Amino acid sequence: MSDGPLVVAEGLVKRYEGGRISALAGMSLTVEAGEFVGIIGPSGCGKSTLLHLLAALERPDEGALRVAGHDLTSHRALNHYRAHHVGIVFQLHNLLPNLTAAENVQIPMFETGLSPRARRVRAEELLELVGISHRLGNRPTELSGGERQRVAIARALANRPPLVLADEPTGSLDSKAGGQVLDLLEEVRVAHGVTLVLVTHDPGIAARADRLVEMLDGRAVSSPRAG
Ligand code: ADP
Repeated sequence: MSDGPLVVAEGLVKRYEGGRISALAGMSLTVEAGEFVGIIGPSGCGKSTLLHLLAALERPDEGALRVAGHDLTSHRALNHYRAHHVGIVFQLHNLLPNLTAAENVQIPMFETGLSPRARRVRAEELLELVGISHRLGNRPTELSGGERQRVAIARALANRPPLVLADEPTGSLDSKAGGQVLDLLEEVRVAHGVTLVLVTHDPGIAARADRLVEMLDGRAVSSPRAG
């Protein structure tokens, strides 16, 4: 792991549709290891696009982006970065319907050299960590929304990434289940030293972040609360 901030983004530009859409227009962001940063801003301001770039699911058209010592603007070693350095929790859990909870959690582990037995043991540990070890053998349709998000969090943590990205992770849940999922993300952050970057519309969730970054028209406008 490199010294200095975990995430350094400078002047990120991302365009779609041949340049007609400017999803990011000079976005800069620095996140220290262990921080919980909330990203807020109106729909369409580029929050999800920013998370996609941080997850190396897409590359910026312009700007500099380094996470955990990886240059995410280059083609090199992005599979390794995705497998080991970042975990993502989406609004909808994105679990595979035909796999059990324990099997879903193992998906990122196929990128590693773990044996099948080690994968199963690790999946069991993770489902215990997120409080649903009694649901190992259940498929997503047999789980509540909150339980599915717990499985998604366990999956995001599978390879012990230093950075966890969450895109409206409680957006599809009622307030009680949403609060529990957020409690879990915070617990994981503290217990495992994970850095959390969370996109939200919900002021209640935003209030729990160490620091907020407000976006407008594809760039940061301010940091209302310093951490
Ligand atoms: P937010 O998450 O803040 O709602 P997004 O990052 O999803 O914003 O989108 C920012 C802008 O980029 C929007 O105008 C959106 O329609 C556009 N956009 C995002 N992804 C794509 C894509 N794959 N193709 C075309 N336009 C996109």
